[in-house]
Amino acid sequence: MKALVAALCLSCVTHYAHAVCDKNADKLLKAYPEQLVACENNTIVWKSGERQLYDDGKQKTFDQLLEQADVEDMFAFPYPIGANSYVPPALNVDAGRIRNEEFFKRMYGASSSEVKSHLTSLKWLPKSDGETIKIQSVNGVAAKLEQISQELDEVPSALKKYVMDTSGTFNWRVISGTDRLSNHSFAIAIDINTKHADYWQWSKGGYAYKNAIPHEIVEIFEKHGFIWGGKWYHYDTMHFEYRPELLMN
Ligand SMILES: [Zn+2]
Repeated sequence: MKALVAALCLSCVTHYAHAVCDKNADKLLKAYPEQLVACENNTIVWKSGERQLYDDGKQKTFDQLLEQADVEDMFAFPYPIGANSYVPPALNVDAGRIRNEEFFKRMYGASSSEVKSHLTSLKWLPKSDGETIKIQSVNGVAAKLEQISQELDEVPSALKKYVMDTSGTFNWRVISGTDRLSNHSFAIAIDINTKHADYWQWSKGGYAYKNAIPHEIVEIFEKHGFIWGGKWYHYDTMHFEYRPELLMN
């Protein structure tokens, strides 16, 4: 049955079930050395001693990837990097939007109060009189965002308007219209100024890709491990989130 399902499912990017630790598992180990110690026998081993299945071996449709992602599925779409990576994404190509919730709960906190206990404050664009924001300290996310903030503080003023007045970091909430937790819940995401943002759900009269955020801004975030929602078919151009595993070759 699996072969038939795979043949019908042309848009599925996931490969055949092989149920082993692969090079993407290695990327996770490299991206999160404070948290993960190994991948063995198709199982992620956490520093706490907890073990989590890596690949459930199931072939999934796009909706199933969103709703029932295992850890391995988080790599279903490669995240595009480089000068040619700004073309409008193909149908349903959402690199980073496929998330295993259990993975992030173990990493950053399984409840609002647990995540709150890991938050740290930082001054956003301090030279430009930015606001104080709260962000996740686990995995050095706050330190990475601080570096981003310092670099953004040096960009020409014409570019600064896109990142001044941020629109939110930590917020334990589901993604609008779904019962899936947003990665704002784990305080690893930041929305820049909504005034210049585009979101797929806002497009009227049918789907059309839109973006006004300059590439220079995106590249500063990517350099420090944050992916951009503007590279998703279901675009969200104000959104950046810490996902270093997707930025590794
Ligand atoms: Zn967001």
